[in-house]
Amino acid sequence: MAGMKSHINRRDFIKLSGALSAGLLTPRLMRNLTTISQAGRGQNVLIIVFDALSAMNISFYGYGRKTTPNLAKLSEKAVVYHNHFAGGNFTSPGTASLLTGTHPWTHRAFQPGSRVADAVEAQNIFNVFQGYYRIAYTHNGWAYILLRQFRKYMDELVPQQKLFLESYDDFIHTLFYNDDDISGLAWARNIDNGEGYSYSLFLSHFYEAIQNRGIEGLKKRFPRGIPSTYSSDKNVFLLEQAVDWIGNRLTVVPKPFLGYFHFLPPHEPYRTSIDFYGHFANDGFHPLDKPVDVFAGAKADNNLIQIRTEYDEYILYADQAFGELYQSLERTGLLENTWVIFTSDHGEMFERGLVGHGNPTMYQPLIRVPLLIFEPGRETGENIYAPTSAIDILPTFLHLTGRKVPAWVEGAILPPYSGSSPDPNRDIYVMTAKKNGQFQPFTNASMALVRGNHKLVHCFGYPDTQGDILQLFDIQSDPEELNNLYLSKPDVAQVLFDVLRAKLTEINQPYV
Ligand SMILES: [Zn+2]
Repeated sequence: MAGMKSHINRRDFIKLSGALSAGLLTPRLMRNLTTISQAGRGQNVLIIVFDALSAMNISFYGYGRKTTPNLAKLSEKAVVYHNHFAGGNFTSPGTASLLTGTHPWTHRAFQPGSRVADAVEAQNIFNVFQGYYRIAYTHNGWAYILLRQFRKYMDELVPQQKLFLESYDDFIHTLFYNDDDISGLAWARNIDNGEGYSYSLFLSHFYEAIQNRGIEGLKKRFPRGIPSTYSSDKNVFLLEQAVDWIGNRLTVVPKPFLGYFHFLPPHEPYRTSIDFYGHFANDGFHPLDKPVDVFAGAKADNNLIQIRTEYDEYILYADQAFGELYQSLERTGLLENTWVIFTSDHGEMFERGLVGHGNPTMYQPLIRVPLLIFEPGRETGENIYAPTSAIDILPTFLHLTGRKVPAWVEGAILPPYSGSSPDPNRDIYVMTAKKNGQFQPFTNASMALVRGNHKLVHCFGYPDTQGDILQLFDIQSDPEELNNLYLSKPDVAQVLFDVLRAKLTEINQPYV
């Protein structure tokens, strides 16, 4: 794809920026110029992942708390998937399935911190989008292991530490870290233009806070601690900074681009900003009581409501950041030629004595994730209820950008873009096998099979459960999974169990 250079190169951008600050070019005019020069080129694809965001905690999917006011408003213009499943129940398999369009048993990244198998390494979304400017970032160390593995298929892997706050200088510098000229301009616009902080409105109070008091000053804005990848103050970051940086960066990279940005929130530690701190405290919300799960056992956590509340308040922070990113794309005109995908790599749970996503269960809070697709120019929403999977995203966007879907892809083109009505009985699989050997047959794993209204779960090979776990839920009539139908609906259970066993035999075959 020679000649696929940016319509605005760096020098032009600086010129435009100069004109902008001199008042010669209005933002609207700049946006129109951008739009015109993009006409006829390929459309950009922007994938936004918020880590550990369960669909079960999102209001427009039925949650009792209004955790996502920005997303809810934007969803009115989006295609919203109501039965969307992650590839696994934690970061490595969930992210790898999203990036490869294949199941965990194919990519083999089902252990904590895994890479995908070398043999299938080339099967990834960056490789199949050759000719696009491929750029990626993540706060998450395990997702970063996968992105590093795929780096040779990208144009720009933003280093993980670039969007961590080390110091005030780094903060300013990382905002436009690889372009000192633009960095200087940003400084001038934000700090020294005599008109306050007009360009980057969203960040202005952070510049001010940091300028006056450094990192210490930020602590007041984050009563539970500055967002971090750890429970310490190491690797602290601001979502505001990350989305601001990305919104700016995407205006200057060559078009069309494929962007993959994977933010840590609302993953623990749950450290919302003061804007949302205490937002749901004492709101009278009572999640359903559920029996303690066998995987919780004697270690069952009793403080579920407090921790859930901190998580829900952290979702508000993520939702605000997504709203800001969306507005930034709108303001710069990028949205008019960009598909935006909003999703997560897996969910999170606060029930049955289990907190977080470190357990091997396959309950809906852990594996049901949001998926929204924002289509350029689309003004009306659409709801999709057929079950869909993370592995569908890669083939869908190959198809939508006019590319051929290779035979190794295991996902399907998502409705409504497939050209045929969705198969309501399509089989969707979710799998986790944290302790199984990477290239061994599966002897210790958790598998879920979703077909139509039903979900069969089979957990096998766990030493503490005294035998296999078998569950059958009607996830449409019983979305909270209160009634295990495995014994009371033996016909359905047997059919799905046979399908799952046959699949297990098939996927183990190459490793026996
Ligand atoms: Zn994750």
